Amino acid sequence: MLHIHTIPAFTDNYFWLLQPDIGSPDTYIVDPGAAQPVYDYLTKHKLTLQGILLTHHHHDHIDGAAELAESFKILIYGPDSKRIPQVTQHLYEGNRLQLGNISAEIMEIPGHTLDHIAYLINTPDSSPLLFSGDTLFAVGCGRLFDGTAPLLHQALQRIAALPDDTLVFCGHEYTLANIRFALTIEPDNTDLKSRQEIEIQKRERGVPTLPTLLDLERRTNPFLRCHLNSVRTSVERLSNQTLTTDAEIFASLRLLKDRF
Ligand SMILES: [Zn+2]
Repeated sequence: MLHIHTIPAFTDNYFWLLQPDIGSPDTYIVDPGAAQPVYDYLTKHKLTLQGILLTHHHHDHIDGAAELAESFKILIYGPDSKRIPQVTQHLYEGNRLQLGNISAEIMEIPGHTLDHIAYLINTPDSSPLLFSGDTLFAVGCGRLFDGTAPLLHQALQRIAALPDDTLVFCGHEYTLANIRFALTIEPDNTDLKSRQEIEIQKRERGVPTLPTLLDLERRTNPFLRCHLNSVRTSVERLSNQTLTTDAEIFASLRLLKDRF
């Protein structure tokens, strides 16, 4: 039975640690932006590392990878990107990566950065799990760095097409700030309002708001709701523009969030 451990780091990053079989100490780390929190966690829980999975080149997602790989003599998996020379095995769309007794399918989802990939895990005894890096966040999405709005829009639509019960493990705890912005776009969204109360309570107890459920994202995340009149009307009003396509609405919504 697969178990996912959460390692909080820096101010709002999460490094996700996958333990494919709860009976074995073997684990795989996703996006270790620093080595020390991973060492500390592995030592405390008597676990060992078998591989490193990277989603994109940003420092807070990769900076611990080389040191961990050297210490444990393991491979670093990630996108084919000049900006991540540490990667020892490149992964491409549709590739399958074996992690002990489970396997992850690779999705290329450029947008936040051009080199962004996600890891999708399907097992017979759990919901699908998606490690989405900085592409989809709870009630939000990543900023545009070297990617473009149409690419990010397309990436999010691919993610939105996954099954309702998909659990999304994002790279950052941005949920409360994202909800405050989302309420400026959809102030009458009752799912969003009740979600705000629930997520505030989790943060007050020091509990992560992640992973998030894809079905809940479809109901509360404005970046997955650009096709709806409620979102279109607000984005047009706040950006003072007439917008025709969902992709244009998405691009304007992303700009509004940048300025929020
Ligand atoms: Zn990033």
